[in-house]
Amino acid sequence: MARITDLLAAGRTFSFEFFPPKDEEEQRLLTRTIADLQPLRPSFVSVTYRGGRISRERTTRVVIDLLRTTDLTPMPHLTCVAHPRFELGEIIGGFRAAGLENLLALGGDPLPAEESYKELEYASELVELGRRLGFESIGVAAHPAGHPRSPDLVSDREHLAFKLRLADFAITQFFFKVEEYERLRDELAARGITKPILAGIMPITSLVSVQRMAELSGYAVPADIVRRIEAGGDDREEIRRRGIEVATELCRDLLDAGVPGLHFYTLNFSKATREIYTKLGLVTHR
Ligand code: FAD
Repeated sequence: MARITDLLAAGRTFSFEFFPPKDEEEQRLLTRTIADLQPLRPSFVSVTYRGGRISRERTTRVVIDLLRTTDLTPMPHLTCVAHPRFELGEIIGGFRAAGLENLLALGGDPLPAEESYKELEYASELVELGRRLGFESIGVAAHPAGHPRSPDLVSDREHLAFKLRLADFAITQFFFKVEEYERLRDELAARGITKPILAGIMPITSLVSVQRMAELSGYAVPADIVRRIEAGGDDREEIRRRGIEVATELCRDLLDAGVPGLHFYTLNFSKATREIYTKLGLVTHR
């Protein structure tokens, strides 16, 4: 199985993110989405992690199924907050034993108090644990606008730089302006960090859902983007068309700016990603 570090050394990556299905219906949707996206030949795919025993089973099941039954390169996400240290070690060991080569090490979204652990507090500690247990290709999250829990952007950049000294690459939270990416990249470069930073792309298909997600991640969608989408009025198709146009323009600007990889938040749907691929001409070029 490929290491993402090797793929990045060889050229630009294009990757997709999925979440593990909760029930039969979501499973059917994911199976169909993967079948629809496979012809785009993604460099790798990643699978999110929430918390606790059920998430452990679900995320593990999806990545191992992808590993065994497809030619895709799957990367599990794992979060500090979901388990005590010994369980995190067990899970990472299980991933290695199954033949997985890549890991995305995260702090994790807050969980209810009874499911939340603080034995490892920061993602950088999970990177260190992953390394100790044999992972040679470890990614981390980056937040172009700063992490919402950070008191200020400078300290957040310092912590990110520290984390990226330990890890191999980063994937960003979604954003909508190339300048946001360039600022993050340049501020890390000024701290001596030149590891690949893959841009996270979230195509807007409904204004309400993106605003809700942005609120949860502490990121404000830029006002001119909101205005541009809102100009679609009540016409859901028009809103969607505008959202795809915004995402395609962003991808084009990022490719021109030399981004090492584009990572699509698919939300387990394939249509928006396929449309953007087609508009970018990636279908025929890969
Ligand atoms: P960390 O790097 O631990 O940072 C968290 C905060 O602590 C930041 O404010 C940082 O500045 C600060 N900090 C870091 N180190 C120190 C230190 N030494 N001292 C003091 N402060 C410090 N969430 C999930 O639950 N499941 C997922 O699958 C998931 N996938 C994601 C994928 C991507 C690509 C991204 C961008 C995010 C994802 N998230 C996921 C969300 C992420 O878990 C949250 O944003 C979480 O709140 C922070 O995660 P982190 O890895 O950035 O944390």
